[in-house]
Amino acid sequence: DQSLAEFDPEIHAAVTAELGRQRNTLELIASENFAPLAVMEAQGSVLTNKYAEGYPGRRYYGGCEHVDVVEQLAIDRVKALFGAGFANVQPHSGAQANAATMFALLDPGDTILGLDLAHGGHLTHGMRLNYSGKLYDVVAYHVRDTDFVVDMAEVERLAIEHRPKLIVAGWSAYPLHLDFAEFRRIADLVGAYLMVDMAHFAGLVAAGLHPNPVPHADVVTTTTHKTLGGPRGGVILTNRADLAKKFNSAVFPGQQGGPLEHVIAAKAVGFKLAASDEFRDRQRRTLDGAQAIAARLSADDVRAAGISVLTGGTQVHLVLVDLRHSELDGQQAEDRLHSVGLTVNRNAVPFDPRPPMVSSGLRIGTPALAARGFGPAEFAEVADIIATALVDDSVLDGLRDRVELLTTKFPLYPEL
Ligand code: PLP
Repeated sequence: DQSLAEFDPEIHAAVTAELGRQRNTLELIASENFAPLAVMEAQGSVLTNKYAEGYPGRRYYGGCEHVDVVEQLAIDRVKALFGAGFANVQPHSGAQANAATMFALLDPGDTILGLDLAHGGHLTHGMRLNYSGKLYDVVAYHVRDTDFVVDMAEVERLAIEHRPKLIVAGWSAYPLHLDFAEFRRIADLVGAYLMVDMAHFAGLVAAGLHPNPVPHADVVTTTTHKTLGGPRGGVILTNRADLAKKFNSAVFPGQQGGPLEHVIAAKAVGFKLAASDEFRDRQRRTLDGAQAIAARLSADDVRAAGISVLTGGTQVHLVLVDLRHSELDGQQAEDRLHSVGLTVNRNAVPFDPRPPMVSSGLRIGTPALAARGFGPAEFAEVADIIATALVDDSVLDGLRDRVELLTTKFPLYPEL
């Protein structure tokens, strides 16, 4: 019955230091967000103690009457949020959701067609060292070298040539909407399943600010912690009643044992929040903020430094900065922004001449700062701080002060 601070001062100190880091820097990693206290309270609850293998009403353990309520609420809420007929809320993460989905639909050696990792795809969409690359025969599609837009003509050509059993649409680093109807047409043309991984943009979908893939896809997977703003975790959605059972048995007993009911409770809280007007406003600020950053990074002073914005703008919560013609590489740019208190991640851009650990790009996202309360004025200021830092390293002290003004004005987790 000792507190964390009393029993384990080393871990307590690291957690406290991390809270300080989150408070005192501006978080611009596109896949990150700040979970609300109610989400963290559910996640830190006694539900962590409960085994509940199975599904609500059909468990392999006694004493599941309360976790059944929790899991059914999570299922009902996420179905309503995205207009899906079926949901599995048990995947421990986005990668687990994708693994279970592929496990349900494919046999080892089957062909999948996914976006190349180097062009914005995710590890689980067929990267060589990932389970998806090891178990399945992977064919990758790309963005065009002219405008960095996903090459749907190539998707069609590769689909006809390789007859994949599954086509994966979705991304970790891409600034535009995908054409889900066109993916559907191509999948039907070759008799493939269509899986959309909306991990990154699910929050925008929930808010009605991004096309919903659910009506087009055989299956949609997502994480719950990126734009969606809940706890770390994964979800599988489908409208295909004939596939729903397969997804359930692929998650349990196929891939996982006991579900994390404390995380599922936190997911349910996150889904409730995502259905609110407050959340829609936050997603609006997320999108507008990303567009403000893209606009500022397209200005003359930035272009003169050889820096530009991939595709010229963004339709989502992130901006991809192209440093291929800049003296700064991705690592140096990331370090420069870090030195003034901005956290971003370097990212390879398509056709990147520099090695992946250095790279020629930055991925800058706005979900976390929108959760912190930032609106148009603050995002304009952040955009100018980023642009100035990238073009002029003689004014970094002043930029650090400007960051501090923002972090002070928008306190994070003041209750903690
Ligand atoms: N899918 C996409 C598109 C992602 O960007 C990510 C995370 O980066 C994942 C899946 C994996 O999610 P997790 O990190 O929860 O396994």
